[in-house]
Amino acid sequence: MKIICVGRNYADHAKELGNQVPDEPVIFLKPKNSLLSPGNNLFYPAFTNELHYECELVVKINKNGKFISPGKAKLYYEEVSLGIDFTARDIQDKLKKKSLPWEKAKAFDGSAAVGQFVPLSKFGNPKNLHFQLFKNGELVQDGHTADMLFGIDVIIADVSQYFSLNIGDLIYTGTPPGVGEVVISDRLEGYLEGEKLLDVMIE
Ligand code: MG
Repeated sequence: MKIICVGRNYADHAKELGNQVPDEPVIFLKPKNSLLSPGNNLFYPAFTNELHYECELVVKINKNGKFISPGKAKLYYEEVSLGIDFTARDIQDKLKKKSLPWEKAKAFDGSAAVGQFVPLSKFGNPKNLHFQLFKNGELVQDGHTADMLFGIDVIIADVSQYFSLNIGDLIYTGTPPGVGEVVISDRLEGYLEGEKLLDVMIE
């Protein structure tokens, strides 16, 4: 399986990091080892002093495909969850300044936390989902999928022009504003439409 991530998919988040709003999906990958399954905690990596959370809606691919049209994309997923795209922001800033790839900042072991998956049919329209992230009980991110610059179907269509999609692949669809730092012993809890799907501690 592979983990496909969309960057800068919410205009207000692109702005909070001083980035331009993109005119096509910004895509990067994380390896299998980056997956942090439910029930596991993240060990604070030694190479960073500024670890950030980015809470995102995660879509699970349920069918193999390539060159998928936006109109057919719905046939390729039926379950969603919430995830954290953990980012070593200090490392990323350093790499961005040199126009270098982001993997050291984004693709490290445990950097893709994911919660329990739930059937999308439970919620209805994937374009109108509300999700929230709490850090130590305090609301820090409050997102609506309606604010995505590129919706799930457009992302699948775009990505599948470049990479085949395979059963079990995960797509992290970008984070709303409110990203911030975590330190050891912080707890992150994610709610989709009021249902708790994600619970991660930093160790
Ligand atoms: Mg992200």
